[in-house]
Amino acid sequence: MISILLAASLIFTAEDADVAWETARTLVDECTPRDAGTVRGKIAAYKVLDMVSATGADAELDVFDAQTPRGKKRFHNVYSFLKFDPTNDEYVVIISHFDTKSGVACPGANDGGSTTGLLTGLANAVMRDRSIDGNLMLVWTDGEECMDYYGQNDGFWGSKRAVQEIKRRGIKVKAAICVDMLGDKDLKITIPKNSSRALAKIACYAAKKAGDEKLVSTIDDLVKDDHVAFLEAGIKSICLIDFEYGGAPGSGYWHTPEDTMDKLSKQSLLRSGRLLTGMLDVLFTKRSQSSSNGEQNKQNKNN
Ligand SMILES: [Zn+2]
Repeated sequence: MISILLAASLIFTAEDADVAWETARTLVDECTPRDAGTVRGKIAAYKVLDMVSATGADAELDVFDAQTPRGKKRFHNVYSFLKFDPTNDEYVVIISHFDTKSGVACPGANDGGSTTGLLTGLANAVMRDRSIDGNLMLVWTDGEECMDYYGQNDGFWGSKRAVQEIKRRGIKVKAAICVDMLGDKDLKITIPKNSSRALAKIACYAAKKAGDEKLVSTIDDLVKDDHVAFLEAGIKSICLIDFEYGGAPGSGYWHTPEDTMDKLSKQSLLRSGRLLTGMLDVLFTKRSQSSSNGEQNKQNKNN
């Protein structure tokens, strides 16, 4: 009977992984590098807007100015609101940055490109099924990368802005999931310590349910990423990141001209996408079950 009460699960398919791949490839081929505050950074934001719109989803650009170590710069976030539950105001927010590290001519195939693609792939999955049992806000951030050292006016401009916009618009957020570097052929997703434990459990459960238990592990390290602005705003947040990219964490191809498409695989994008839809399934279903418990109990009695 539950299948009658709950909408069909969102499934990330090979077609969605293709969309993710094409998104990353387009950014790499047409917008390398795309450092925040540069013309190519701006073009990248418009490309993302176009590619999300091509899935049928509505997307909007949020243009804002902020101080940086190089003076005042202009930034461009992209948002897509996928509201499918008219009885519920809460959103699950998924965040990926699309900018590249300034000054290192990095194509950012994995660091920025892969997860920008994952979110576009998710939009594609949602628009194909049009039946998700909840509300999703997709956030593509500009200016995740710092110019010198992370600090008050250096780095995370886009996520700080997104949190401000969420507050300003009165959007209720159930959970925020930040994804970063999830297209590596050799995929090992980690959950840093500064993530919500409840969401970490859901991620591990979703991996297990997908038969991909070894995909995800928790680590004792703290990772600075776009989820921090959400954590600081008191929003349950998690970071899913594969920081081991062609070498020890924080070395290899990371932030180098070697971060190119040949290091990625569609299979990894598919696995990452399925992990996200598995998490959404739990996050959406949790509310559906609690809100429809009365009805389910009634049905159980009838059975
Ligand atoms: Zn980076």
